[in-house]
Amino acid sequence: MMKYIYPFEEGNKDMRQLLGGKGANLAQMTNLGLPVPSGFTISTEACNAFYENHNQLSDDLLDQIHRAVAALSAKVGKTFNSSTAPLLVSVRSGAAISMPGMMDTILNIGLNDQTVIALANLTANERFAYDSYRRLLAMFGNVVYGISEATFDGVIEKRKADQGYQSDLDLTVNDLQEIVSEFKTIYQKELNHEFPQDPTDQLMAAINSVFESWNNHRAQVYRRENDIPSDLGTAVNVQMMVFGNAGEDSGTGVAFTRDPATGKKQLFGEYLLNAQGEDVVAGIRTPQPIETLRSSMPHLYDQFATIAEKLELHYRDMQDLEFTIENGKLYMLQARNGKRTPTAAVKIAVDLVSEKLISKQEAIMRIKPESVQAILYPEFDEQALAENKIVASGLPASPGAATGQIYFTAESAKKAHDDQHRKVILVRQDTSPEDIEGMVVSEAIVTSRGGMTSHAAVVARGMGTPATVGVNGLQVNYQTKTATISGNQLHEGDWLSVDGTHGNLYLGQIKTTDLTVNDDLATLLDWAKDEARLGVYANADTPKDFAQALNFGADGIGLARTEHMFFKPERLLEMRRLIIAEDAEGRKTPLKRLLEMQRGDFYELYKLSKGRSVTIRLLDPPLHEFLPHDEKEIKAVAAQLGIDPDYLAQRVDALKELNPMLGHRGDRLAVTFPDIYQMQIQAIMGAALQLLDEGIIIEPHIMIPLTDSKAEMSWVRDLVVNQIEDLFDAHNAKLEYTVGTMMEMPRACLTADKVAEVSDFFSFGTNDLTQLTFGYSRDDVGSFMPAYIKEGILPADPFQTVDVEGVGALMKMAVDKGRFTKPQLPIGVCGEIGGDPKSIHFFEAIGVTYVSCSPFRVPVARLAAAQAHLSAKRPIEQAAGVKAH
Ligand code: ADP
Ligand code: MG
Ligand code: MG
Repeated sequence: MMKYIYPFEEGNKDMRQLLGGKGANLAQMTNLGLPVPSGFTISTEACNAFYENHNQLSDDLLDQIHRAVAALSAKVGKTFNSSTAPLLVSVRSGAAISMPGMMDTILNIGLNDQTVIALANLTANERFAYDSYRRLLAMFGNVVYGISEATFDGVIEKRKADQGYQSDLDLTVNDLQEIVSEFKTIYQKELNHEFPQDPTDQLMAAINSVFESWNNHRAQVYRRENDIPSDLGTAVNVQMMVFGNAGEDSGTGVAFTRDPATGKKQLFGEYLLNAQGEDVVAGIRTPQPIETLRSSMPHLYDQFATIAEKLELHYRDMQDLEFTIENGKLYMLQARNGKRTPTAAVKIAVDLVSEKLISKQEAIMRIKPESVQAILYPEFDEQALAENKIVASGLPASPGAATGQIYFTAESAKKAHDDQHRKVILVRQDTSPEDIEGMVVSEAIVTSRGGMTSHAAVVARGMGTPATVGVNGLQVNYQTKTATISGNQLHEGDWLSVDGTHGNLYLGQIKTTDLTVNDDLATLLDWAKDEARLGVYANADTPKDFAQALNFGADGIGLARTEHMFFKPERLLEMRRLIIAEDAEGRKTPLKRLLEMQRGDFYELYKLSKGRSVTIRLLDPPLHEFLPHDEKEIKAVAAQLGIDPDYLAQRVDALKELNPMLGHRGDRLAVTFPDIYQMQIQAIMGAALQLLDEGIIIEPHIMIPLTDSKAEMSWVRDLVVNQIEDLFDAHNAKLEYTVGTMMEMPRACLTADKVAEVSDFFSFGTNDLTQLTFGYSRDDVGSFMPAYIKEGILPADPFQTVDVEGVGALMKMAVDKGRFTKPQLPIGVCGEIGGDPKSIHFFEAIGVTYVSCSPFRVPVARLAAAQAHLSAKRPIEQAAGVKAH
């Protein structure tokens, strides 16, 4: 017989896989001697067995549950159905990976028409007993039978309205009894049967539903969003109830050991007196900050603070705690590593290192690389902000600033985002797990109710989405699809600006600022640099981008695309003059003008580099990309150039290609128009020589695009080298320089040993390499790629994450062959994929020297590079000692 059940005394924190996170931590807290109500955990193995058994609890499992309940009864001295000491339990789901709000919990199991009276007598608190009973009826009806929460809430709201009550607390015993009986009629009406009175039946049905909830829609969405495998299963915790709704010396709350928005080290949380379970998170009543507990119940506050500290030291991380106070006695109901904003995550990791609780390496490993991008939070531009008035304020639930168009339901937000590509802001009274898909697509989230731990706040922080919650003066009317903010009426689709850092709202659109790296992130990135083997460079072609990249910690420029420099209007004109010229003679003047401009570009980049490496790629795209295409444009350009439009049309036509991406581009241009590359070399070397005159030594790295063979590379290299030598002679000076090639043609990879003979470095151009390996036109994949991913034919978009099996095999071959010829050959990867964390792990493994990505990806790549190196157990021999140039 398989053991499916573990009393809390038998488990510990390392048993998450089997007991789920909640169960493992309840066990751990129990064994630390903390006040945890007794109970037991039904394992995730039981959940998987349940699915194998056609969604039924097996006889074996039923038998084990009966015995566990008997043991619990004996331990706590309470039994199901007892009229003197009735046992009530909660049934709580808990998977190995915490999925807040995604699964279902039922409280007060064991109450029925008899035990409710027993409970009332026992506690001399009739109100409390019926309050608990109506909660059970609603939760059970919702979770087990799928009756909507609104059906039950409607009864309560109607009653409150009829009696003129403000709050749930105004409901009298009589009201609650009436509500209980109305709830029972709902069962009859909706299900044609009664609420099950037998506690054991209730328990089994609840366990059954928790197992089934593992596969409910919102759990699936959450798992998909968070890359959680779907076959882990959930555990179920059955735990004796303690009551936060037993009166004014009772309550329930949640608290973090550090501020989950900023990471600041201070107890942070909320509680409600005379309330149970979900009341705090549901945002039904606005809770009190935990600080007020310090004055109202000082010894409980101290006890709680001590426990919080103990748990943080024990888990060596910020904790998210749930507690209940029953008649002045504190109980711990949950501990887990707290969700936090990326900003808080970095601050906490860095602080824990200075508190000597974790190592620098651990700190690095704790941060999800993608998440650091969100730390570079935009804020509203100060000047733009000064011109706007704060229209309303709420709680700063999740930092960052965003502008967007407002929608009041998750569906309409998602629709506007998906169909109209709008930047949307979800504005609601409050959010619930059903809203998750709308929240994912939103730029910001705003609610009129709820606190810092409301569903909206927790989920927004987890996603790094700005949020302002509990906004005063905001009324949302779902029927009319309008909202009123401090007297201003807004309709669906109107613009709103949300500052989640300070909790403010503004009408209309406001410009946001550039992003920056804060001190904690800078510290973490420094550590990451020490731990990484891979260098991290930026793709940048302007001084502005380069400065941004340096600000984000880039080692230099791994790819400066020179074609981008030709798109400024005055340059485009010269470029066009150059392209339509029919011979070398005609190209002379425009080339001369372009040379001056390009030399200036490179001079600026080199100057900014302060000795860091800068790799410049020679002209790559098909020439016709620079030309006008329709008649109107041709006319305008002809006028600008002072030539006949018909002649221009004729030249444009002559340059047309059926397959330009496979046509006359890259180094093929050098073979037919050598003077273009010669001009670029003069500009690159000219700038370096100019700096040499100023006493600054630059080592230019020149990169040839599109090479497919040694012969071709050799031809272009000669062209480049001869030009450089001429310049050196003329200038009577010399500089170190390198000439390398992009690795982006499959044929170049296949013959990399030969190509390496005439290359000083390689740099993988993963976009072209992927396009050519798959035969997917990268500009046309939109029509079929989504279907391929949906059907599982492709695991992911290979232009975003390296296709290890195919493209990766070619890359590995090129690395091995290149290093066979030149053991010290520097090998880079440039393109967006160079900043993709999953791909970086692969690049680490095959011995790539450095990656290069857009400036904003640099911090992400840096962290991923450190993690890849730290998690690669064995050093890559081939790569050892090879430094990026
Ligand atoms: P979630 O995973 O959504 O946080 P939980 O299982 O933690 O769900 O339950 C939600 C809340 O229900 C808890 O925070 C706690 O306040 C309440 N609760 C759960 N079990 C008990 C219990 N045995 N006694 C009192 N309250 C409980
Ligand atoms: Mg919980
Ligand atoms: Mg390319």
